[in-house]
Amino acid sequence: MRWGGALAVAAVAGIVATSAYASARPVTAHDRALLARPATAEERIAEGVAERLTGHPSVSVRCGSMGVSSPNVLGVTPMLNGHAFDYFLMRPAECTYLTWFHDAPARWDPRTCVPADCRYTVDITWALQTVAHESYHLLGYTNEAQVDCYGMQSIWFVATRLGASLPEAQALAQLFAQRIYPLRRIETPAYWSPECRNGGAYDLRPGSSAWPS
Ligand SMILES: [Zn+2]
Repeated sequence: MRWGGALAVAAVAGIVATSAYASARPVTAHDRALLARPATAEERIAEGVAERLTGHPSVSVRCGSMGVSSPNVLGVTPMLNGHAFDYFLMRPAECTYLTWFHDAPARWDPRTCVPADCRYTVDITWALQTVAHESYHLLGYTNEAQVDCYGMQSIWFVATRLGASLPEAQALAQLFAQRIYPLRRIETPAYWSPECRNGGAYDLRPGSSAWPS
């Protein structure tokens, strides 16, 4: 259980964030209980973004206990035999970060934020990436390196759906690509690939020289 509260999580965000990852696991009875309650306003925000990103008409997102033991897991998409079920779960803190961002996107712009806010920019970027990452699992992708690379290339989309300007959205994607993604090679190598680069096998827009958005 990780209901310890957003403030406690945020305080150690620098440690948590660098080794965070998302995982796939089977459906559980606990998931059904979470899905049975109505989505909160924060969860509906994430659902709307995931629906646009996947093209699926009805995606459910719940923030709560995910049934995994590692505190570094930010999101989980239950899958069975390579199929997802149009829902994913996130840590409660991820919903909090999405709400902060949605309420005032420009406040978290990594190019202009004040130090007191900048300390949360990495966590907020992780929350944006978690929505994008889990959305690619909903599309049936199971290779974590591929999913994470596609997710990174969709951070800008999630950010703009939550109200960010395109330049800010691209700055957040750059932050992930430059400061977070290289750490994956060492800390969570299953989520890293040398093909995740401009012109690489996982480049979603091979005709564009822009990277990662
Ligand atoms: Zn994953």
